[in-house]
Amino acid sequence: MQSDLPPLPSYTLKPVPPLVSWLKDEYMTLLLPVLAYWVVSMIFHVIDVYDLFPQYRLHTPAEVLKRNHVSRWDVFRDVIIQQVIQTIFGFALSLLDEEATYGKEEYSIASWALLIRKAQHYVPALLSVVGLNAGALASNLNLTHPNAASILSGGRYPGLVQLVSVNGQSEIAPAFAPWEMQLAKALYWVVVPALQFFIGIVIVDTWQYFLHRAMHVNRWLYATFHSRHHKLYVPYAYGALYNHPFEGFLLDTLGTGLAYLVSGMTVRQSMWFFTCASIKTVDDHCGYSLPFDPLQLITSNNAAYHDIHHQSWGIKTNFSQPFFTIWDRILNTMWKGGDVSARYEKSRVHAQHKVDRDNGIRAAQSDSVNTSSASEMDETIKNSSNTPISVRRTTRKKATSISQQSGNLKGLRNKVNESLQGKGGNVLGVESGH
Ligand SMILES: [Zn+2]
Ligand SMILES: [Zn+2]
Repeated sequence: MQSDLPPLPSYTLKPVPPLVSWLKDEYMTLLLPVLAYWVVSMIFHVIDVYDLFPQYRLHTPAEVLKRNHVSRWDVFRDVIIQQVIQTIFGFALSLLDEEATYGKEEYSIASWALLIRKAQHYVPALLSVVGLNAGALASNLNLTHPNAASILSGGRYPGLVQLVSVNGQSEIAPAFAPWEMQLAKALYWVVVPALQFFIGIVIVDTWQYFLHRAMHVNRWLYATFHSRHHKLYVPYAYGALYNHPFEGFLLDTLGTGLAYLVSGMTVRQSMWFFTCASIKTVDDHCGYSLPFDPLQLITSNNAAYHDIHHQSWGIKTNFSQPFFTIWDRILNTMWKGGDVSARYEKSRVHAQHKVDRDNGIRAAQSDSVNTSSASEMDETIKNSSNTPISVRRTTRKKATSISQQSGNLKGLRNKVNESLQGKGGNVLGVESGH
């Protein structure tokens, strides 16, 4: 039977040329996730600052202003620190990597085809177990379905031959059937890479779930490291990697590094994997429940899901991050408190009161300043100086725009509630009582 097998082609390995001529792929792999993080974050930042999709906000601008315990600058600085650590670590890892090569594809595809051929050898024996005569079936199908007949007869393709060169001389050798080659190509180009991504995702999700949960179970771990990330009660996109540097390194950098090593991804694959993981983490913190965001539709572990974990009442639930909710489901840590819209509304109203109170105080101060210095002001205006007027106008404008906003937000709140009740009910699985 051995001699019936088609031979494997020879191959020559060549170094893979970099994707862009001026940067090694290994460095591109380090650069892309950071670049993607900031590009996607800035898109969400613009949406947030210009309030482009108020109807899809999880939190109001007043909440962003009042509920977070950390300034945007501190967040920005710590994210940069984590990314510097991540890049240095990635660079050190890349030094251990062997140089990427290509040229073995035909050989690897033929190896898969060979496996498929060898697997067919077991077909007659397997069919005889259930009482079927494979030989008789094969001869019946020989004329109408030659491929099926070949499979049933244990992978015999007597008519399939090819010319191969052995020591400079042409020889006739067995060949693979077209269907075997097509299946082998699909395995090599699609199934195996997809499996590697899947393994990578499982490793990252598992790694992050258990370490993240441990950070919440152990008081010291929480107080020392993880509490920093939870200063963001109202997450925003670029706060995704706002962590204690040690936690960032342990959960994100080591987790994805391990996924890369265990799954056996190529550098090119890891470029996609790291970049997608980075974008997914940003998206989970974006503060919007967007019906047209594909990342929020692919899995139920989305911004609305993770946002619950950022609330004081939901902090002991929804630990799963960043891809799927599977560990929360298996270990029963998914939010089970029912409809969350009333809790969200309470936070919104509370934050809005704070903003209104601050504006009231500011307006009162501004009025008292205006009254006491009215005569001075009149003098100044008479003296044709524009500065005091413009200062006064700015103060007034601010006060009005925020109070107008507060009125508009009542409408928005209803919409956000609808979005949370409608979508969240299904997406979060809260109503179905999982
Ligand atoms: Zn947490
Ligand atoms: Zn978070």
